[in-house]
Amino acid sequence: MAAAETDREAPSALCSEFLNFSAKDTAAKWLLASNLPKEVYQHLACYVPKIYCLGPNLNPQNEDLLAPLLLQSPLEWYLCGEEPSVGLAKLEQNNQPSQLCGHVFKVGEPTYSCRECAADPTCVLCMQCFLGSVHKEHRYRMTTSGGGGFCDCGDTEAWKKGPYCQKHEPNISDSSQKDPLANMTEEMIARTYNVFSIILKYAVDMLTWDKEDELPEGLEPPVRGDTYYCMLFNDEVHTYEQVIYTLQKAVNCTQKEAVSFATTVDRDGRKSVRFGDFQFCEQAKSVIVRNTSRQTKPLRVQVMHSSVVAHQCFALKALTWLGQIIRYSDALRRILCQVGLQRGPEGENSSLVDTLMLCDSKMWKGARNVYHQLFMSSLLMDSKYKKLFAIQFAKNYQRLQTDFMEDDHERVVSVTSLSVQLFTAPTVARMLITEENLMTTIIRTFVDHLRHRDLQGRFQFERYTAQQAFKFRRVQSLIGDLKYVLISRPTEWTDQLREKYLEGFDAFLELLKCMQGMDPVVRQVGQHIEMEPEWEAAFTLQMKLTHIISMMQEWCASDERVLIEAYKKCLSALTHCHSGFTDGEQPITLSMCGHSVETIRYCVSQEKVSIHLPVSRLLAGLHALLSTTEVAYRFPVQLPLSELSPPMLIEHPLRCLVLCAQVHAGMWRRNGFSLVNQIYYYHNVKCRVEMFDKDLIMLQAGASMMDPNHFLMIVLSRFELYHIFSSADCRKRYSRENAHKDVVQQNNTLTEEMLHLVIMIVGERYTAGVGQVESSDETRREIVHQLCIRPMAHSELVKALPENENKETGMERVIDSVALFKKPGVTGRGLYKLRPDCAKMFNLYFHHYSRADQSKAEEAQRRIKRQNGEDSVLPPPVLPRFCPLFASLVNILQCDVLLGILGAVLQWAMEPSGGHWSESMLQRVLHLIGMGLVEEQQHLIGSADDNDTNFNFTLKISRPGEAPANTPSILALLETLQNAPHLEVHKDMIRWILKTVANIKTTRECTASAPPSDSSGHSQEETVRDKDKAERKRKAEMARLRREKIMAQMSEMQRHFINENKELFQQSLEELDPSTSSTLEHSPSSCDSALVCVGPRRWRAGGSERRQMVTCILCQEEQEIRTDGKAMVLAAFVQRSTVMSKNRKRPPHNPDKYDPLFMHPDLSFGTHTGSCGHIMHSHCWQRYFEAVQAKEQRRQQRLRVHTSYDVENGEFLCPLCECLSNTVIPLLPLTKTSCSSEQPDLSQWLSITSQQMKALLSAHRKAADAEGVDAMDGVNDCPPPDDFKLDYTPKNPYSSTIKEMLTTFGTATYKVGLKVHPNEQDPRVPIMCWGSCAYTIQCIERLLVDEEKPLFGSLPCRQDDCLSSLTRFGSACWTVSSHTTVQNHFIRLLAALVPDPRVENTPCILDIDMFHLLVSLVLSHPAILCLDSSGLSADAAQLHFLHLVTVAHIVQILLTSVPEEMQMEQEGGGAEREEEENVCMLYNTLRTHLGSGLHEVSSGWHLWHCVKAGILPYLRAAALFFHYLNGAPAPPELHTLGAGEWEALCGYLCLPSNLLQLYYNNQELMEPLLQRWCSHPGVLQGLQSSVALIRFPRESNHLIELPGDYSALINQASSFTCPKSGGDKSRAPTLCLVCGAMLCSQSYCCQTELEGEDVGACTAHTFACGAGVGIFLRVRESQVLFLAGKTKGCFYAPPYLDDYGETDQGLRRGNPLHLCQERYRKVQKLWRQHSITEEIGHAQEANQTLVGIDWQHL
Ligand SMILES: [Zn+2]
Ligand SMILES: [Zn+2]
Ligand SMILES: [Zn+2]
Ligand SMILES: [Zn+2]
Ligand SMILES: [Zn+2]
Ligand SMILES: [Zn+2]
Ligand SMILES: [Zn+2]
Repeated sequence: MAAAETDREAPSALCSEFLNFSAKDTAAKWLLASNLPKEVYQHLACYVPKIYCLGPNLNPQNEDLLAPLLLQSPLEWYLCGEEPSVGLAKLEQNNQPSQLCGHVFKVGEPTYSCRECAADPTCVLCMQCFLGSVHKEHRYRMTTSGGGGFCDCGDTEAWKKGPYCQKHEPNISDSSQKDPLANMTEEMIARTYNVFSIILKYAVDMLTWDKEDELPEGLEPPVRGDTYYCMLFNDEVHTYEQVIYTLQKAVNCTQKEAVSFATTVDRDGRKSVRFGDFQFCEQAKSVIVRNTSRQTKPLRVQVMHSSVVAHQCFALKALTWLGQIIRYSDALRRILCQVGLQRGPEGENSSLVDTLMLCDSKMWKGARNVYHQLFMSSLLMDSKYKKLFAIQFAKNYQRLQTDFMEDDHERVVSVTSLSVQLFTAPTVARMLITEENLMTTIIRTFVDHLRHRDLQGRFQFERYTAQQAFKFRRVQSLIGDLKYVLISRPTEWTDQLREKYLEGFDAFLELLKCMQGMDPVVRQVGQHIEMEPEWEAAFTLQMKLTHIISMMQEWCASDERVLIEAYKKCLSALTHCHSGFTDGEQPITLSMCGHSVETIRYCVSQEKVSIHLPVSRLLAGLHALLSTTEVAYRFPVQLPLSELSPPMLIEHPLRCLVLCAQVHAGMWRRNGFSLVNQIYYYHNVKCRVEMFDKDLIMLQAGASMMDPNHFLMIVLSRFELYHIFSSADCRKRYSRENAHKDVVQQNNTLTEEMLHLVIMIVGERYTAGVGQVESSDETRREIVHQLCIRPMAHSELVKALPENENKETGMERVIDSVALFKKPGVTGRGLYKLRPDCAKMFNLYFHHYSRADQSKAEEAQRRIKRQNGEDSVLPPPVLPRFCPLFASLVNILQCDVLLGILGAVLQWAMEPSGGHWSESMLQRVLHLIGMGLVEEQQHLIGSADDNDTNFNFTLKISRPGEAPANTPSILALLETLQNAPHLEVHKDMIRWILKTVANIKTTRECTASAPPSDSSGHSQEETVRDKDKAERKRKAEMARLRREKIMAQMSEMQRHFINENKELFQQSLEELDPSTSSTLEHSPSSCDSALVCVGPRRWRAGGSERRQMVTCILCQEEQEIRTDGKAMVLAAFVQRSTVMSKNRKRPPHNPDKYDPLFMHPDLSFGTHTGSCGHIMHSHCWQRYFEAVQAKEQRRQQRLRVHTSYDVENGEFLCPLCECLSNTVIPLLPLTKTSCSSEQPDLSQWLSITSQQMKALLSAHRKAADAEGVDAMDGVNDCPPPDDFKLDYTPKNPYSSTIKEMLTTFGTATYKVGLKVHPNEQDPRVPIMCWGSCAYTIQCIERLLVDEEKPLFGSLPCRQDDCLSSLTRFGSACWTVSSHTTVQNHFIRLLAALVPDPRVENTPCILDIDMFHLLVSLVLSHPAILCLDSSGLSADAAQLHFLHLVTVAHIVQILLTSVPEEMQMEQEGGGAEREEEENVCMLYNTLRTHLGSGLHEVSSGWHLWHCVKAGILPYLRAAALFFHYLNGAPAPPELHTLGAGEWEALCGYLCLPSNLLQLYYNNQELMEPLLQRWCSHPGVLQGLQSSVALIRFPRESNHLIELPGDYSALINQASSFTCPKSGGDKSRAPTLCLVCGAMLCSQSYCCQTELEGEDVGACTAHTFACGAGVGIFLRVRESQVLFLAGKTKGCFYAPPYLDDYGETDQGLRRGNPLHLCQERYRKVQKLWRQHSITEEIGHAQEANQTLVGIDWQHL
């Protein structure tokens, strides 16, 4: 490349000049200079362009070397006046560092905040400080940093407690007030001052320089070449793809280069994309601009002279240098601050710091980052200058914000984001309020930026353009700033603060006035609205302001004078808003029950109504505060209470509530969803505190100041129900009103809502100021009502409670007093359950219940009461007393209008409903009556200390109705209703009311007349109760009988169902009872009593036991499994696996060339077969699969929807359990064998076999010859032994459908196992089948060990069925392959044990997995045996194979176990002496063959134990294999864990328990074999090679160890950098749980190509590490990721839990997380069971959105 050449030339040309340069001399010259700035500029003008920007690539190597030498060093010399390293060290020594930590956070670094001690949530600690602080024992919150911001350790304002960690604890001796400059000489101060001011000025000049071709005065280069850069700048408008595409076109680069350009532009904010002469660069610029200007504004490109760029590069370096040098001393830092803030020649706001800030939005990202960092490490670290800087920041605030509105960069790179560092410090914030009027400035700036208003001056967000929407989003950050300013309330008020705060409050009221009444709605009648009106913007604003409004109130509450003034201001603002609210609205008079009131005619259903009433609501809040702070009682004269017009106060909130009621009643259906959404948010926990809750308070406030009758009449009128209840014969509504049914229904709902509102107005007393409660009581009550619905997790409760500005709900303080915590199990989460004694607080009409919540809670509470054997009635709870200001509200209960309403409804209820009353209406009426009674009881109890006893509800309800006259009293109505048959559900409540009335009467009589005369009343009550009891008992008995009958029916059905779906049920039991599996096989009933599974003496099934009946899950027909019958198949899933791999570094095999005949003992890649155990006819399955295929094709044509399974790859879901499958295994019967006559012993058999092999080999070679293949030399014609017919082709015993299925499964295993295209002719097909059988058995053997389960009897049915059909399939699959091929395989396999010079490429015994060898030998042997007619039995052959392979395995173990010298000789019992001697002898024999390759070992005991331990997995796997192959039941010892396993295994496998006997009993045969094994060159090589040998037993693989504390992982990930883009932070660091590799996931930089497609780092990793299956932990998200192939994936709950037993996916809550071992083990189990893919399938079926995710890019 050209660049490299220029780079190399440039320094060499200057070399001599550089070598002669002396920093010391330069500095000395500067010391004498009269005009230092000019001298330094000259120096820079000369050297900077010689070092920087000499070629297309800015070569950092040269710069890093030269810049310090030529540029920085003279500055340091000058500054120190001596050798810089000496001078700076002195400075550092004298420095007394400030206590601030100031560690600046990297992206993704963990940060900690203390919920108990932090002043606000923005106060954070770095991990190091946190670990050394007191807060780690507190309730802390953990988050990951978004970058920027610094550690607040040492800032006493940031922490209520423990502001210092151990490291930053101040020394007692040092006084922090001391001036850091005191230790420095005058001269040095002066010099520092000079250097800093020149360099900072230079940097500011260069970074804010906007000319492309010129330089500031004094910096023009001595020589000027025609060298330019085409500089591309970042914006947030164009996408990555657009930029990459454009660059490829414009500068003619590869896609890779374009990606790298785009990445740099995104990171640094600019990047030169071309270097050359002006023309050359200009041309590229015009192409880029042309290409990107079509849709949006063009990309920003500048052609800049190289010297300009060079100076800009050095300017950045200079700022970094300043940042470094001030670290040496606080004095230097202070001087830099002074220089930066010194006012410039242009007067105010002209300091260098000001200049930088004001040019912020014009700078590129990289420059901004550098100077922001410098600000943070200088201005913000110095207590004095932090304040001065804050003042400048506040002065420029409005302009900075305006610039930011136009800036197209994110806020994190804007200087405005520094506000969080300045405003959150309480003293600074307070100073800025008083001195710079910051509150007002922020609010005014905010209002100014929202320009769109309607005619009344209210905000209007309708038809917002994208540009405005963007601005609206930006302007919201101002609310954040306001929040910072307000977050800590003042403890002391000065007059100045009061003045400025109230000024800010005024500005705030102006803002709220623009919101009052915005987005009004009018009910749509007739037609549905055409366009959903915009509503979100207004609610966003409301939501963002919620905390501000609350904080404003809190500030007011902290000072009486401020509160009074604010109240006045707010009231006048409200009056202003509503000035003339009666305009055009006719005054009318309402009268009812002898009362009348004046109001206006207004119908919510006809006129404009708005849900936004922030001014009213603020006033409501302040009104409650008047009561809480008792200002209302102490300074009544100062308050404008007489000016209050209660009807005006309640008018708008009431309209809003009526609107909600009407929406419920379905009257606003035509107004579309936007209104429904608004109503939803109005009640939602995020908004309700400053919306719904305050409206209720306002109604309470208004009602408390009015005659209750008047209030209720106005309410009725607004609900548009007045006409119903005011009419003289309202009690006869049912006969009178013949209106349309819909209208009646509507009015019913409105009546319900109206009654509910009355209940709330009288009953909601848990707001401090309204009732005599504290805020913790309010929280407690919220929690109680949530838990009344059902037990809930911590996070659910948090979501249900309003959070304050500190993101706290106050729950922690009270939760334990109302709830009990229950820890989670392996799944689910921890739950809080209501304390039983708190149930009495339950209020069915709790104001925050939605209708759904209410009915759930009602049901739950009734159920609990019934379970406890209590009456299920839910009476109103006892309430706290009202505060005096609200005390008159109770009178609503006993006022005439309400009693009239109650009476009317009760009267209606006398008749069974014809739609003229409703159950919920009656329920509410009863509740209200109940409330009256409870209230009266409370008044009676409290009557001693309170003479307010004129609350006599019982008296009022006993009176007959007044108008219309002579109607029955409420009490009389209730007594009648008590027996009404149609009111069964309300009887409990009516009975409770009557009982309470009786009790109250008794109490009143008691207090009136001394002796209690309740005996008669009591007895009467008693009899009533007895009668009740009897009745209830009878009902309970009937219910019990009915229940029993149903149970009986159910269990019958269940039995039936279980029978039909046996497998399903068995598999669903995760922990299996050992007795469930194949009980039939337990009891051996055959001739041979010994339970032996292999060899001539093996157990044989009788004819009846062999019969096996199964049912097809698709057609439900029964079918016997027969060789010649219809094929039955099991749904199966074949997958490649590395679960048992002992060598993850082995590269994947080349699928076309790989010879799988011998499995390497590292088991690096295997093929696993699993099944859900569901059986079908093969033809039923085929039909099903074809249907799935057809459906899929249709679906793909219609819409591009993906499924969780890949039909084209043969995948389908099991039709019964929806388990992912990709093939089927045919079910086969046990092969018939008979106990045959004498069989040859091993040596005889071996010689017969080797003769047979010889004959076969030569026959095969001859056949090859005939086909024209060159014959091998030295192969003699070899006649076959007698009875061995080479040309014999046995008849295939299987039916055609079974043969077809044998091929199907064989091909599938081959295809998946090798990742090749299906080819049933490939000779490797049978090998893959045997391999899968062996691998699957080995997996299950490991799994049983890991799960600590016995070898037999503990497998779930599905695995039992799968293994048995897999093994039997294995023994049959040769019948559908070429016999010659299988015979050849056998010859090669046998040659590994009995070396045969004619067979080539035989691996040495160290390189063979012996179990795979055994399985392949046994399963391929039938292809040989079928040629023999001499009566050799398969059983004998199997036993001989077992013996041979076992001996080979013993030798393998002895060779690979490196025995360490034993310290002490274990004195085992004599029992094993023989084995120990034998094994020593054998080992020594091996040593004679191999010599130095083996260590000397004297301990036979140790060797024998190595052998026993090493061979056990093999024996266990062999037992499983022969068990399934031959059907022999296992001995009972193998059904349990514990001792005796070894003997039982050996017995079952027909082996001597001293395995060495296998060798010594046939020594003359074995000895030569041993010799030949050892003489294989591979053995010695293997023993001497540095590569670790595989040792036995192979340990089970684990998922990696995870740290106990999640933050350790976050920390690990935050220091992880992307391996491809040179030290960049990775955005999605992801940990492979299988091998522990950290990956840079979900990012362009780390995409690689895999099989022709771009895939992300995770997908790429799975192909090497997990053969396509991966388990990852996404560290930033705290989420487990499962991947399978390129298209499948799902997220899974992480194994980390917080103290509440919950996970935190996405790390949103930030509670400390700890590893839950059980859950991690569960993930590990899924992996070991090969269930990851299945789990993904289930997850995707359950959640279709998972299917659409581009998993391959993760
Ligand atoms: Zn720190
Ligand atoms: Zn610290
Ligand atoms: Zn703390
Ligand atoms: Zn069928
Ligand atoms: Zn199934
Ligand atoms: Zn891995
Ligand atoms: Zn990367």
